[in-house]
Amino acid sequence: MKYKRILLKLSGEALMGDQQYGIDPQRLAEYAEEIKKVHAKGVEIAIVIGGGNIFRGVAGASSGMDRVQGDYMGMLATVINGMALQGALEDKGMKTRLQTALKMESIAEPYIKRRADRHLEKGRIVIFGAGTGNPYFTTDTAAVLRGIEINADVILKGTRVDGVYDSDPEKNAAAVKFDFISFDDVIKKGLNVMDTTAFTLSQENKLPILIFDMNKSGNLEKICDGENIGTVVNI
Ligand code: UDP
Repeated sequence: MKYKRILLKLSGEALMGDQQYGIDPQRLAEYAEEIKKVHAKGVEIAIVIGGGNIFRGVAGASSGMDRVQGDYMGMLATVINGMALQGALEDKGMKTRLQTALKMESIAEPYIKRRADRHLEKGRIVIFGAGTGNPYFTTDTAAVLRGIEINADVILKGTRVDGVYDSDPEKNAAAVKFDFISFDDVIKKGLNVMDTTAFTLSQENKLPILIFDMNKSGNLEKICDGENIGTVVNI
């Protein structure tokens, strides 16, 4: 396998499937199936899941809510998604642990890097919930942070587009996709890959990010097999 240890980032919105909000059980089961294929090949898998399908702090703030309060609500939303994903993975026979950046010990372990390492070594899938545990951050930043901490080989950002384009492929039919692009070029060209905090953290720590279409069955496995899918952002 090309990667021994991966950090998979899934957005909360991806879990909605075709629904307007919440969690689509069908989509969850499909993701669990995709993850199972790489787990069966011995890849160590950590997952950071977003919360945008339930709540975003920025949206709360724009309707008059205190931003910090809203961000904590967003972090709790990621824990709900994490629990749902945990259930879906265990349904398919995988062993998992949920670790959260905010303590809620009746439902999840607190985040402890050494424990996460140990779980991964034992073949358990570790889901990191509650983002970084701090307001004003995103789960993309949490993904990069945890990826660096656990020495992941790569951040795999599963999205609904198949990579990074020179313009928005949903608006411009002539948009061209990059197979590879440097961190510097992403910044120079003003491309929207991740929020800047996540992106610079990845760049400074030389952790590559691979953006790919998670909704296409087999993609995750092909990436771990070393096929050139999606866009790799690296130094
Ligand atoms: N959040 C936060 N700190 C973090 C991670 C997340 O405050 O470290 C909050 C923030 O309000 C964010 C929400 O949780 O809007 C949901 O996360 P995100 O928007 O990253 O989810 P995604 O876009 O991946 O679904």
